[in-house]
Amino acid sequence: MASRGYEVQIFESNNYPGGKLTEIQLGDYRFDAGPSLFTMPEYIQALFECAGEKISDHFQYERLDIVCNYFWEDGTTLSAFADLNQFKEEVEKKLAVPKEKIDTALNESKKKYNLTGKIFLEKSLHKKETWLKTDVAKAMLQIPSMGIFKSMHDVNEKLLGDKKLVQLFDRYATYNGSNPYKASGMLTIIPHFEYGIGAFFPKGGMHQITQSLFNLAKRKGVQFHFEKSVQEIVHQKEKIIGVKVNDELIEANQVISNMDIYPTYKKLLPTLKPPMKILNQEKSSSALIFYWGIQQTFPTLELHNILFSENYREEFEQIANGNISADPTVYINITQKHNAGDAPDGCENWFTMINVPYNDGQDWDNLIADARKNIIQKINRILKTDIESLITCESILDPRTIQSKTGSNSGALYGYSSNSMMAAFLRHKNFSTKIKGLYFCGGSVHPGGGIPLCLLSAKIVDDVMHE
Ligand SMILES: Cc1cc2nc3c(=O)[nH]c(=O)nc-3n(C[C@H](O)[C@H](O)[C@H](O)COP(=O)(O)OP(=O)(O)OC[C@H]3O[C@@H](n4cnc5c(N)ncnc54)[C@H](O)[C@@H]3O)c2cc1C
Repeated sequence: MASRGYEVQIFESNNYPGGKLTEIQLGDYRFDAGPSLFTMPEYIQALFECAGEKISDHFQYERLDIVCNYFWEDGTTLSAFADLNQFKEEVEKKLAVPKEKIDTALNESKKKYNLTGKIFLEKSLHKKETWLKTDVAKAMLQIPSMGIFKSMHDVNEKLLGDKKLVQLFDRYATYNGSNPYKASGMLTIIPHFEYGIGAFFPKGGMHQITQSLFNLAKRKGVQFHFEKSVQEIVHQKEKIIGVKVNDELIEANQVISNMDIYPTYKKLLPTLKPPMKILNQEKSSSALIFYWGIQQTFPTLELHNILFSENYREEFEQIANGNISADPTVYINITQKHNAGDAPDGCENWFTMINVPYNDGQDWDNLIADARKNIIQKINRILKTDIESLITCESILDPRTIQSKTGSNSGALYGYSSNSMMAAFLRHKNFSTKIKGLYFCGGSVHPGGGIPLCLLSAKIVDDVMHE
């Protein structure tokens, strides 16, 4: 917007930029606090380009050779190599699954992305112009054959067969806080982001995404106002007037709300009738994270590591019931593997995360105490260690604190889940049809959560504002 010549002001409740994409420091340990997996760097590159700058002057990243290391309770381990031939060999060696199965699954994923990605992710679905395009009509005709009416799990089972490999590919449903046993088979598009396009790591850590965009915005003249919560989006009948901050009216012709859409309506637009059918859809899952300073190094671990549960279906059933399985899948992210300064010599910074339900008033203190015990026992079993004795410092993030720190509805990580077949079509639009000059972006509106889609939501706002 600033590059287009607008005078841009940003009002942010926190005293730092980035929302969920922030970092924390515990003594000598640095942690990326929220997102840890970086895909689709081209969308960040596009922002630099439209601002007339060269990304490499301000933000560098590398493609990962090993996307993730996977561990199962029976001692099976598997490295998901970025090099597809290596990955296929690994799957054949460790799981005795023929290479062709991986080819078939990844080709399907790529086909879905090529056919639908540009249309359903990069365009507003709420403009008739989108639907009049011939490529959209073509994509719509193909949708029934893309597994939309089957669950993601059923599609993966048919394509891959092997229980462990199906679990590995089902896991991609969690990339937008969904349940693979309920989410549509369309979500099998996600592996293409990781294997086809690549998984990356920014030099200096994920927080550099925030930092580089913050600095870019400042260079373009954007004014940031921290610790300034917007109290109300002010409109007169159907026209935007501005926002209210500290009881003062800040006038504006356009307002873009990046706040979660539910509180945007409930708190900032009190006189507007909220679209409750959209707002009351099932929320995405949340997360429980233990940031641990670990005084040892683990050569078998990579940047991304998954310790799988024995009963994946039960794990998602527990989440659906607002509970946490006694055997959760544990994700360990260690940025120190690529960014040595994130932990002291001989130590590692562990971001240890499990998927949990969104905050519905559960007894979180008890749930967290039980989960911590179960996670530690699982790590000890699989990595043959005594992890508790190696933890030198700890901080915890849970659905309540995700909610209070970012304003995200019930602490959901990705806005709404994709647990219904039509979820992709039912996210809130990126503009208001009732108030001229009001726009919405971020993870809770179209096209959905996660850094790449949040960036696309901003691009769509730019498109519809200037069509
Ligand atoms: C633990 C965790 C792990 C994740 N892992 C990944 C991952 O690996 N990869 C990935 O791509 N995505 C991941 N995500 C999801 C990703 O972080 C989000 O989809 C994305 O960052 C959301 O961006 P956003 O701008 O929509 O919301 P937010 O980042 O929540 O930003 C909203 C901002 O609005 C501010 N705000 C709210 N109300 C007001 C108000 N009234 N006035 C002023 N300011 C206000 C908040 O303070 C906040 O800064 C993860 C999220 C979490 C929490």
